[in-house]
Amino acid sequence: ISKAEATPYSFFNKHTQTNIERRCLLESHLVDALKHQELSLHYQPLFSLQHKRVIGAEALLRWHSPQLGDVPPDQFISLAEHNGQIIAIGNFVLHTAIEQAAKWRSQDPSRPFRVAINISPLQFRDTDFADYIANLLSLYRLPASSLELEITEGVLLQDEQLAQHIIGQLQALGVRISLDDFGTGYSSLSYLQKYSFDTLKIDRCFITNLEKNEQDRELTRAIIAMGKKLTLNVIAEGVETQAQDAFIRQEECDFGQGYLYGRPVDAQTFERDYLSSD
Ligand code: C2E
Ligand code: CA
Ligand code: CA
Ligand code: CA
Repeated sequence: ISKAEATPYSFFNKHTQTNIERRCLLESHLVDALKHQELSLHYQPLFSLQHKRVIGAEALLRWHSPQLGDVPPDQFISLAEHNGQIIAIGNFVLHTAIEQAAKWRSQDPSRPFRVAINISPLQFRDTDFADYIANLLSLYRLPASSLELEITEGVLLQDEQLAQHIIGQLQALGVRISLDDFGTGYSSLSYLQKYSFDTLKIDRCFITNLEKNEQDRELTRAIIAMGKKLTLNVIAEGVETQAQDAFIRQEECDFGQGYLYGRPVDAQTFERDYLSSD
């Protein structure tokens, strides 16, 4: 065969092969991960910059496979979305995190506490999604105001009207809706125009180089100011240094999340480190 014909195959190299093999391997083990109780949640503190205390947590999925070890969510969630498993996995996340938040809240009802849960676009396609959430809130007796659902532009890209409808239903319940990874999508600004959110999460990529990069400082400053003008809660993600904390604090950002305030940890550790009064 000629060289020209051979060229298209040249990118199908060893590297891609390995990736495909890895995906297949992950996918075959993921099928039973829920049943074998290999999935769990970690909780990362959400820090109020004004009150200087932890006021909630983001639930983050963890998979420990006996065969493969710890697999990060960035590697298996897209697979689960691809094969439809994300519905069952997403329901597990909702049950577990809502039950946990209700428990933490009942330990001290006067202490504000909210849990933020990541929602995949596929979960948001279900017309009964808001009913499902309403049922979980009453099952575990968690006030709707203690629940925040984080969505990305993937949710909004699909069926605009359905997304708008479900967001409206959830907000009518009192559930907060957060626009995750803000600033990284194709048209984040148009989403702010079309949908009503409660919270805006500034993506880590803006925060990481705040100290070094004047442009990132200006962008972060502008996003915080805009969020506040729109009366949204603003959360800065990926805060790792005191200087980053000082900057977002000075700009009157509402909340910080990042290794500086705490890494994602299992429920028991979270309770010990952030919720026990002694
Ligand atoms: P995300 O929603 O943007 O979550 C934040 C990610 O940033 C988490 O990664 C968290 O561990 C990490 N992070 C937090 N603070 C810092 C920091 O200061 N520095 C750095 N370098 N990283 C920080 P994680 O847990 O690996 O999750 C990755 C992504 O997987 C999440 O990004 C989210 O998109 C997805 N994900 C996680 N759990 C779930 C889930 O239950 N359902 C769905 N649909 N997606 C999930
Ligand atoms: Ca998130
Ligand atoms: Ca994010
Ligand atoms: Ca992300």
